[in-house]
Amino acid sequence: MPELPEVETVKRGLEPVLAGRKLAAVKSSGLKLRAPLPEKLENRLIGRTIKILTRRAKFLLLHLDDGMVLIVHLGMSGRMNIVTPNAVTDRHDHLILDTDDNVRVIFRDPRRFGLLALASGNELSTHPLLGDLGPEPLEDDFDGTALLNRLGNKKGPIKPTLLDQTVVAGIGNIYASEALFRARIDPKRPAGALQKKEADLLAKSIRDILNEAIESGGSTLRDHARPDGELGYFQHHFNVYAKEGQPCPGCDCGESIKRIVQGGRSTFYCAKRQS
Ligand SMILES: [Zn+2]
Repeated sequence: MPELPEVETVKRGLEPVLAGRKLAAVKSSGLKLRAPLPEKLENRLIGRTIKILTRRAKFLLLHLDDGMVLIVHLGMSGRMNIVTPNAVTDRHDHLILDTDDNVRVIFRDPRRFGLLALASGNELSTHPLLGDLGPEPLEDDFDGTALLNRLGNKKGPIKPTLLDQTVVAGIGNIYASEALFRARIDPKRPAGALQKKEADLLAKSIRDILNEAIESGGSTLRDHARPDGELGYFQHHFNVYAKEGQPCPGCDCGESIKRIVQGGRSTFYCAKRQS
């Protein structure tokens, strides 16, 4: 599943071909994804200019010149492909955008857990998909204080709490483990019991890890530009995620990485470093 850094990388990859471009032709599969496609989607997009692209959590937002915003979520397997207008399409292509600059962008999603929605730009902050999201971890005002505010006096362990999108927007299972490892915080600690110092370090770790992943995504795109122009996935370097039994890379503790299950999801950590 694409995580925040991948969605950010997709956004940056699409910007040069979509921002400021008019949609000359639009085709949709009409098939239901996680939710049905917006009514008359093609008609509502064709002839519109995409002003800017932004991201909120793991949602990609295409802001149109009529004030509407196309919300895209890649789901489990969604990808964006930048191709030429005569490129072949298939039945997994749920949205095909042809720009006035002769570029075709395809949203391809074989498993159909993705999502396409249209919303008024004025209502984004109260939109059902976006309204309840917590602070954006890469915004300037995300710090230990902002994090503590959201953790409140939550009794649950910090790791699954970080996956709650109303606490921090866009943190997935991988980066929750990685950030706690870097901040040396026990994933089992009650979320509301974190001290200010720990929250500062955790907020910084979250930001640093996401930024590093975005960096590496960007360099992966530059170094291995795929001929099919596919955007969406790249190789990450992880310290603990899926490293159960391997030596701890963070300290000379001599321990190996442990795996526990919290809230039905795997957590990876060093029991000595994070205690
Ligand atoms: Zn260790």
